[in-house]
Amino acid sequence: MRKSTQHFKLFGAVTAVVVTLTGLAACGGSSDASSEGDQSEGLVTVYTGRHYGIEPVFEKFTAETGIEVRFTTGSDPELRARLEAEGANTPADLLMTSDAANISLAATANLLSPVESDVLAESIPEELRAQDSSWFALSRRLRVIMTSSQRVPNAPQTYAELGDPQWKDKLCLRPSTHPYTQSLVAGLINNVGADEARKIVDSWVANNPLYINSDTDILKAVVAGDCDVALANSYYLGRLLTEDAAFPVALTWPDQSTSGAHLNISAAAVTANAPNRENAVVLLEWLASQGQKLFSDANNEFPADSRVEPAEVLAGFGSFKADTKSVRDLGGLNAQAVELLSAARYE
Ligand code: FE
Repeated sequence: MRKSTQHFKLFGAVTAVVVTLTGLAACGGSSDASSEGDQSEGLVTVYTGRHYGIEPVFEKFTAETGIEVRFTTGSDPELRARLEAEGANTPADLLMTSDAANISLAATANLLSPVESDVLAESIPEELRAQDSSWFALSRRLRVIMTSSQRVPNAPQTYAELGDPQWKDKLCLRPSTHPYTQSLVAGLINNVGADEARKIVDSWVANNPLYINSDTDILKAVVAGDCDVALANSYYLGRLLTEDAAFPVALTWPDQSTSGAHLNISAAAVTANAPNRENAVVLLEWLASQGQKLFSDANNEFPADSRVEPAEVLAGFGSFKADTKSVRDLGGLNAQAVELLSAARYE
């Protein structure tokens, strides 16, 4: 017994990115999700680019269904590349991403498989799922204007206003390599056209932004005075406010009189070569229905199903208009957004 425990420990250390949740089993051990021949009645393997508080969600799913969840985390593009390389031999049944463009790019690469499901059609609004039912949003995440509540009495109201010269040397942004930035700019291209989007990005760059590759660190930089205004996803502020209700950053919903705040999603899809397709569909439907609140609340995101009540801390952000009509186009516009950011010398 001792010997086998040591074996599992060693194995666990080698395959640290793979986590197995075994529910009631006392000693299920870990196992590398990349090993072949894992087909099993009660198993589903997930590749997830969204990993905030996912363990309790999967544990609940296992407790309710008896289906064991194995998951591997990575960035959205890394996991897509892995699916592509593994081809028909992939152990992954479900792909989860933290960005709309990345799930849509996986669909374009033929890595996903459509799911016709009444549960999904009823829970997930049409504009938040692929036209061919190859992917589905599970939660909504908004990229919004964040300002110091101590130093900024008049917050900018639009993405374009972040380029106003009054914010020179006072703006914090996420780098261009990050999907959140790319999808935001893809949304701008969709709403105002490439020329106008380029002007907006140029005006941000002219403000000499401080680029920080973490939304949490961006919000902390606002508090520390490294910048006064910034862009970040709404749930990061939700998380910090949960820890400290007096966290001195204010949220502004941008573009409320035009297209609405940039809406991105956490999404999921059954893979094209899923060894356990049926279980993947069960998990996907569960996440969209019974598990919808737990999944969204775990990260202070808005549920994709608007009938589901959002986490309490989000009520303080007030009501808002979101750009629902761009979500399906973010993948198709990704390459153009990346090019625009590069041409504008956005770091
Ligand atoms: Fe995030």
